[in-house]
Amino acid sequence: MPIPSFRYHPDPLKSGSVIVSDTGCHCCGRNTGHIYVGPVYAETPELEEAICPDCIASGLAHEKFDATFVDSEAFDDDAPAAVVEEITTRTPGFSAWQAEHWPSCCGEPAVFLEPAGIARVREIDYRLEGSLMMHIVHDLEISGGAARHTLESLKRDQSPTAYVFRCRHCHSHLARIDFL
Ligand SMILES: [Zn+2]
Ligand SMILES: [Zn+2]
Repeated sequence: MPIPSFRYHPDPLKSGSVIVSDTGCHCCGRNTGHIYVGPVYAETPELEEAICPDCIASGLAHEKFDATFVDSEAFDDDAPAAVVEEITTRTPGFSAWQAEHWPSCCGEPAVFLEPAGIARVREIDYRLEGSLMMHIVHDLEISGGAARHTLESLKRDQSPTAYVFRCRHCHSHLARIDFL
């Protein structure tokens, strides 16, 4: 069964937030062939790796368990409330090392693509390396050789990791780094 399309997280299989699995969904009871393995913010504890992507897309998992999948603190201050609601309640999130950050571009939260290491960053967009360096120096306040080292150390599965996004309007790529 194909997984539903998510406007702000178009390929959760590629990003690793959804995996092929024969686990039954804790929300709808069905076995859809896929299960969400990203973060779940809810009072009910047994929802980790137990919800199918359909129940995220339909909003059923949010309604039934009051669950969200992205921290509402992850967004820029000017992110429109309706978009934040769509992403937190009806979009698969992604696991970061400490706290996810979901940046905006052109006045709206961007589309999450994938966690990436430095080789993949260079492959996605040659301009991304420069903007990541700005992020390291200005936002993370790491400078000089340590900044270069942080950039070169980026890995998809080990800290530090770059989380890559694309703007829905100007189509430029942007990324945020998280580390242990
Ligand atoms: Zn389900
Ligand atoms: Zn933009």
